[in-house]
Amino acid sequence: MKAAVLEAFKTPMKVHENWPDPECGPEDAIVKVEANGICRSDWHVCEGDWEWIGLQPELPHVIGHEYCGIVEEVGSQVTKFKKGDRVICPFNFGCGTCEFCQSGHQNTCVNFEGAGFVRPGGYGQYAGVSRADLNLVALPETIPFVEAASMGCRFMTSFHGVVDQAQVGAGDWVSIHGCGGIGLAATQIATSLGANVIAVDINDESLAVAKQMGALHTVNAAKEDAPAAVIELSGGGTHVSIDALGIATTCLNSILSLRSRGRHLQIGLTTQEEKGFVSLPVDIMVARELQFVGTIGMQPQRYPSMLNMVESGKLTPGRMVTNVIGIDDAADVITSMGSYGTVGTTVVKW
Ligand SMILES: [Zn+2]
Ligand SMILES: [Zn+2]
Repeated sequence: MKAAVLEAFKTPMKVHENWPDPECGPEDAIVKVEANGICRSDWHVCEGDWEWIGLQPELPHVIGHEYCGIVEEVGSQVTKFKKGDRVICPFNFGCGTCEFCQSGHQNTCVNFEGAGFVRPGGYGQYAGVSRADLNLVALPETIPFVEAASMGCRFMTSFHGVVDQAQVGAGDWVSIHGCGGIGLAATQIATSLGANVIAVDINDESLAVAKQMGALHTVNAAKEDAPAAVIELSGGGTHVSIDALGIATTCLNSILSLRSRGRHLQIGLTTQEEKGFVSLPVDIMVARELQFVGTIGMQPQRYPSMLNMVESGKLTPGRMVTNVIGIDDAADVITSMGSYGTVGTTVVKW
C-alpha cells in the first residue's frame, strides 16, 4: 500500500509506494482509510515524545490516529461489521476484559492499544483496528469522511472531557487555554451546551477562529495576564477551565482562572519540557476546593451522542477544517506544528 512512514524520530515521514499492508487478526478489521486528521500528537510522536507514558511506537511505523473510512476486511469472529461499512475509529482500542473495559471505560483500558501507536494508522492507505466489534463505530451516511476525520481524536476527546468529565452545564463560565484543534473543539462543544466560553491563545488568528466557534470573549495571553483577564471577564473566575495545549504555562493559567470549587480539565498531554510533570499551586487548589480532572479519548458507546449532535447541526466539526491535503504533503504540515504554524485542523484526504 501507499503510506507515509516514520522511519526515525525528529525526521519527516517518508512516503513509500509499496509498504506492507496491515494484517487482520480474527477479531480485527482492516479499514480502507478515506481521511485522516493531522493532530498535534503526530508532531509529538515524530519528535519521540511520550515514551514516559508508553506511547512511543517502534520504528519504522505508520502513525496517524484520526482516521475513518470503509471496512475492507474483517476477521472470522467479527459480527457487527462487514466489508463496505462506513466507520470511524476511536484511537483508544480497549481489550474488552480488564475491569475498566468491563465497566464501560474502554478509553482507560489497562491494555490500551493506541491506533497509530501500536497498530498501523491513518497515514497508510489501509489501517488496522483491534477487536472491531468492541472498538469500531459506524459512521452515519450524512457525515462526510473529511468531517469525520476531524472528530477522530481532538473533537471526541474534547466531547468526552467537556460533557462527561468536567460536566459543563448551561450558564457555566468556561475558559479554554490554547485554541488549536482541542481548544476549538472544546469551544464549540461547551458553547453548544449553553456555557459562556472565554478563549485564550497567543495567536490572534486562532482567537478569531475561536470566536467563529462560539467563544463569547477572547484573551491574547501574549499581550495580557490571562488569568486576571479571565477573572475580570467572568466576574470572579470560571466554573470550568481547560488546558487544551499541555504546557506548564497553559496548565497553570487554567487553574488560576478558576473561581472557588471550579474544575480544571486537562486535555493536552505535556511536552519534552515537562515530561508529564508540572508544578501546581496546591495551596490555592486546597483553599478554593478546586478539582483537577483528566480526560483521554472516548468510549465507542458515547459516539452516538456526539454524532447525533453533528447530524442535527448542533456541532459542526467540519467548520474547524481549514486545510485538506494529500498524503504527500502531510509530513510538512506535521513539521510546521513545532513552531505553532497551523491554524484550525488539517485533514489528509486519501
Ligand atoms: Zn481493557
Ligand atoms: Zn490526536
